Amino acid sequence: MTDEPVDPSEIGERDAPPIEAKPYKVIFEANKCIGAGRCAEVSDNWSMDISTGIAQPESYFLAEEELGSNLEAASVCPAKKDRGVIHVVDRRTDEELAPDPEGDGTLSVDW
Ligand code: SF4
Repeated sequence: MTDEPVDPSEIGERDAPPIEAKPYKVIFEANKCIGAGRCAEVSDNWSMDISTGIAQPESYFLAEEELGSNLEAASVCPAKKDRGVIHVVDRRTDEELAPDPEGDGTLSVDW
């Protein structure tokens, strides 16, 4: 854990699509991915990069209809002792929707 909470609104917003079109975003701790491939089994947005052995998202910004499968990918990711390294954030509220191991909507990245 970091001492300072990470503000999700500061991540990836340059050149981002409008919030109205893509209200959700993925924040991916790629350096902590253990290549288990669970995400790719449950979401078309996730695939395994053969050259690196870790997952990669097709898109970091998600429309409403893409939310469900990405929430599932975030929930099933076993990395970081099941805390997960795929984070899905509501850009309107900066709340972490999944995996949310703290249960309070704070971003659970460990940078
Ligand atoms: S489920 Fe998590 S650890 Fe496994 S490949 Fe996907 S992101 Fe990496």
